[in-house]
Amino acid sequence: MNKFEQLGLNESLLLAIKDLGFENPSEVQEKAIPVLLEKNTDLVALAQTGTGKTAAFGFPAIQKINVEDRNTQVLILSPTRELCLQITNEMKNYAKYIKGLNTVAIYGGASITEQAREIKRGAHVIVATPGRMQDMINRGLVNIKNINICVLDEADEMLNMGFYEDIVAILSDTPEDKNTWLFSATMPAEVARIAKKFMKEPAEVTVGHKNAGSKTVSHEFYVVNARDRYEALKRLADSNPDIFSVVFCRTKRDTQSVAEKLIEDGYNAAALHGDLSQAQRDGVMKSFRGRQIQMLVATDVAARGIDVDDITHVVNYQLPDEIETYNHRSGRTGRAGKTGTSIVIITKSELRKISSIERIIQQKFEEKTIPSGIEICEIQLLHLANKINDTEVDHEIDNYLPAINDVLSGLDKEELIKKIVSVEFNRFLEYYKKKRDLSGSGERSERSSEPREFKAGDDVRYFINIGSRDDFDWMQLKDFLKETLDLGRDDVFKVDVKEGFSFFNTDAEHMEKVMSVINGFDMNGRRINVEISKNDGGGRRDHNGRSGGGRSSGGGRSSGGGFRGSRDGGNRDGGNRNFTKRDSGSGSGERRRSSSSSDAPKRERKSSEGESKGFFEKAKRSRRSE
Ligand code: ADP
Ligand code: MG
Repeated sequence: MNKFEQLGLNESLLLAIKDLGFENPSEVQEKAIPVLLEKNTDLVALAQTGTGKTAAFGFPAIQKINVEDRNTQVLILSPTRELCLQITNEMKNYAKYIKGLNTVAIYGGASITEQAREIKRGAHVIVATPGRMQDMINRGLVNIKNINICVLDEADEMLNMGFYEDIVAILSDTPEDKNTWLFSATMPAEVARIAKKFMKEPAEVTVGHKNAGSKTVSHEFYVVNARDRYEALKRLADSNPDIFSVVFCRTKRDTQSVAEKLIEDGYNAAALHGDLSQAQRDGVMKSFRGRQIQMLVATDVAARGIDVDDITHVVNYQLPDEIETYNHRSGRTGRAGKTGTSIVIITKSELRKISSIERIIQQKFEEKTIPSGIEICEIQLLHLANKINDTEVDHEIDNYLPAINDVLSGLDKEELIKKIVSVEFNRFLEYYKKKRDLSGSGERSERSSEPREFKAGDDVRYFINIGSRDDFDWMQLKDFLKETLDLGRDDVFKVDVKEGFSFFNTDAEHMEKVMSVINGFDMNGRRINVEISKNDGGGRRDHNGRSGGGRSSGGGRSSGGGFRGSRDGGNRDGGNRNFTKRDSGSGSGERRRSSSSSDAPKRERKSSEGESKGFFEKAKRSRRSE
């Protein structure tokens, strides 16, 4: 006797289960099925997505159906059309050896008359979205007055989507003595309310988390207009010069075209999908492993076996059809104890999927905005300055120096720096000067993005996207900030380190400096980002034992901050931990890409880094294991 038999399922279901290839019941099935078969009871079952809930209610529901009776006996409500179709399909598979058992799907966006016709032909089971169901009840196209079982699948999600009223109305149209089986990943107040209102002493089943995402991955989403998707992707790449990523698209076609565009725009990209030959795929993977490819654009199927450890970012160029797949995608980064970022580029209309994913992965997303052209220019400038600083000179050049000096003798050092940087950078600047910002922000912003007026003497509280996960405690973060910003002992205060982010305060007089200097660091392939927080951290710093008299930043405002790192590169190990810390070390092995004719800004190939020092040392070292 296999385990499914032990649960009390009948022969035709067992045959179907065999065909499905299920060998053993999942936990929620093992716990729920016997209870539901044994007696007529209400049930509340809490289990994550992907734990086999469909069969947990589907098997017993089917076993309880009397096929001879043409009335609708089971109603399954589910939040979306996709789920509705999926459940219908599953139900049909489960019932394949039961002659005459009909399951009909009812959902919005398709012909209501056609659906009504199908129901008329007989529907023992109706699987419906609440909106369309309510609509059909109102038009008298369905009869659910004789159902024995009502299943609320993904109850929390249905309520999230605002179906409370519909559900209440639908339930009031069903018989008093039916049983209600509620399945949900979480138990927010609204779900509890439904349970309390419509259920009688429900049996309870809870199963552990099967699907929680890796704690080493942080999740971000960016809301953009659909037509800006590609531009957003480019900006994300441009704002992460050291990106080493898998970019997921939904179809082979999109995969191919995104990769082609990236290549045309000068990125080290390639496509990986099922239309490539095995040899081509092997070639792509080899280049990816060897880091000649920084952005691997892939379909879910093709990326399934990717086992590269140092991926810094997973980019969901489009979300997968099945949100469960998100977990597989994001699991490509944050491997082997390293940290990684999973990015979702999303349109406003898809925004609700974020909370569904949050439930699956048991982690919160951070909403971010696509960097503006100016920000990207800053990041790139900084990157370039560091690269110049880190470049090892090949002394072959010495032979030509007199001639070069002749040409450049009219320039002082500052002009020379400007010009050198411009050689590489003008293209970028030109490109982004013309570009508008890609704002399409969602509603979930907790942090203020609108400028607020501050005057000297005000406290400014900042949000920064590094935290204990990056091996900072509050003291280390404070040290890092004050040394990087060249501030005095007490100028940075109320440092509050969380796992993936932190808060800190400074006086408003330092605000500009904080924003310009800190925004642009990159750690672990991730760009450090500071934003002004809405929260002021509570109370003035004086309550925090500040000694007062912070010293001035010295040398005035560091506009952009970007070039400080390139100044005489000699004091790397001096007291002033600064930008030079970031990429210091040898920069040999640099390869140049030949530029193409497109007007898009061209990316630099990543320089190979040597030993890093200072605060970024540990982060870097942990990532580079080539
Ligand atoms: P949930 O509704 O909890 O998200 P599903 O019912 O959609 O989960 O099941 C997730 C996947 O697991 C489906 O592909 C399903 O076919 C499969 N599955 C369900 N039960 C079993 C089982 N007992 N053995 C193997 N696979 C199963
Ligand atoms: Mg389900």
